[in-house]
Amino acid sequence: MEQQPIAPARVSPHVLSGMRDFLPQTMILRQQIIDTFRSVFERYGFEPIDTPLIERYEVLAGKYGEEGERLMYRFQDHGGREVGLRYDLTVPLARFVAAHRSELTFPFKRYHIGPVFRAERPQRGRYRQFWQCDIDTVGTRSMLADAEIVQVWLEALRAVGLHQVVVHVNHRGLLQGLVEEAEVAPEQSLTVFRALDKLAKIGPDGVLAEMEAHNVPRQAAQRLLALAQLQGEPAAVLDELDARLQRYPHAQQAIAELRELFRYLNWLGVASTAYVLDLTLARGLDYYTGPVFEAMVTEPAIGSLGGAGRYDRLIGMFLGEEIPATGGSLGLERVVEVVQELHLLTAPSTVSDAMVVLFDPASDAAVLGLLRELREAGLNAEAYLGERRDLRRQLQYADRKGIPFALFYGTDEVAAGVVTVRDLRTGEQQRVPRDHCADYLRQRVHARRSPTT
Ligand code: AMP
Repeated sequence: MEQQPIAPARVSPHVLSGMRDFLPQTMILRQQIIDTFRSVFERYGFEPIDTPLIERYEVLAGKYGEEGERLMYRFQDHGGREVGLRYDLTVPLARFVAAHRSELTFPFKRYHIGPVFRAERPQRGRYRQFWQCDIDTVGTRSMLADAEIVQVWLEALRAVGLHQVVVHVNHRGLLQGLVEEAEVAPEQSLTVFRALDKLAKIGPDGVLAEMEAHNVPRQAAQRLLALAQLQGEPAAVLDELDARLQRYPHAQQAIAELRELFRYLNWLGVASTAYVLDLTLARGLDYYTGPVFEAMVTEPAIGSLGGAGRYDRLIGMFLGEEIPATGGSLGLERVVEVVQELHLLTAPSTVSDAMVVLFDPASDAAVLGLLRELREAGLNAEAYLGERRDLRRQLQYADRKGIPFALFYGTDEVAAGVVTVRDLRTGEQQRVPRDHCADYLRQRVHARRSPTT
């Protein structure tokens, strides 16, 4: 009997839920934002590091609270070891510092930009693989380090066109004091912090209902909410809290630290409209011990662009000796989404500056020589690589990609020692001496990239 060839099963090309492919246009914008962040981070002396995507589970366990534990990607590797995908860049940093302590110069300032993984329910601005852009300073308790994080965030976000960012500031010790003053049972602290954190989203009644649902007595819940809703100039609110929380050493230390932080922000020249003292801000992660920060935009309503805070005890979990640290992440996908929605940056649709047009093979040597020169001059240039190289096809290719210039160097041009440069947007053409072609194109490309200069 004749054997029927078995058709191979077609594999569906879809990606896992919460994971995404990126097309070149999006990648160009993402890279533009990453490059901008990187240059701002480096301007403040933060240095790059990298760590593995996979860590021993033991490294990640018990650092992120109940939710983190639930959302962590965890599995056995080929050697039967318990491992996890990194959940953020902070815990890997803590392990890194403990592992390389003797090789680092303290205070150690590092940045790290890369993907992290959380098995969350995907929705707008919430993915299962997303990039964090972290800056941290390790080895100092100085509030200048905390103030600098806020300053760098604001500068980095401004550099990608985001001017309306407000950094919310609170302090874990202050929250502790509020809980004590309101007479909420200590074991209910995390529950009430979580409820308070939602005030902007669900309103005061929602917060009270949530606390009551967790058996927090109504009176205590109301007292806490009233305290946490104190608003005004940070200095005035801190004076008021100072008077009310005299009895609680945690709160007193927190107030002193926040006063210092706000003083530094002022001295660093950070506009007072760019931050608020927000007594409802708790931040989800377990490892914070001091000031906590969240970068927010109200338009569009995408929530938090970044989270940060001081974590003086995390590195000690790997070293047996405490090393204080502060810092946190800007979430790349949220920043990209805001930048796209508000049209804050104009990223080109292609990396190519120019396409040289190919004619019959006899002239390839000349055209490819020109192409090589353009590249040597630092221009991004290409030739159409399809087999059928009729002019229509080549120009259609350039047009679809949005390549701004096409260069013609055919027999006539070779004889005349010129190159015809066509602006593909306007159709306007210019004959340029062959020897000046690269310089000319460089100027035109530069003028397109920075139209105001
Ligand atoms: P966290 O590490 O939870 O403090 O988050 C820091 C920042 O990462 C947030 O402010 C968001 O911008 C971003 N982020 C957190 N979770 C996600 C997610 N699932 N998808 C995209 N961005 C996220």
